[in-house]
Amino acid sequence: MSHTIENLLIVCMDFRLPKNHIDWAEKNLGNKNYDLVALAGSQKAITDEDTMATSFKQIETSVNLHGTKVINIIAHEDCGAYGGSKVFSGWEEERQKYIDDLNEAEKLIKEKFEVEVKKYILLLDGKIKLV
Ligand SMILES: [Zn+2]
Repeated sequence: MSHTIENLLIVCMDFRLPKNHIDWAEKNLGNKNYDLVALAGSQKAITDEDTMATSFKQIETSVNLHGTKVINIIAHEDCGAYGGSKVFSGWEEERQKYIDDLNEAEKLIKEKFEVEVKKYILLLDGKIKLV
């Protein structure tokens, strides 16, 4: 292997997010030390049957090509892949759904790869919190 990196970052493709997660990733994952995958719903793209194969192909490529050891998944507030915040009764219910799906995504990833999974939620004010 000619070059290895530590991290894969999986984010939602939402146009509101890159400014936040790119700055965050430079600080927390390191400069030029992560692969980036952007799929609608991030963790939901991993758990949904329709998009699961695509997500796993990306993860597999990162792990095999770059020896990625940590899969970082960022869920975000008001995610359109879920129908947005409006489909939930409030932030607690919305947050819990993201956490449940992040946990499910972690379980599925660990069944296939020997990696660490770190889970985060990005709030629309730009803050990214570890779950
Ligand atoms: Zn989203």
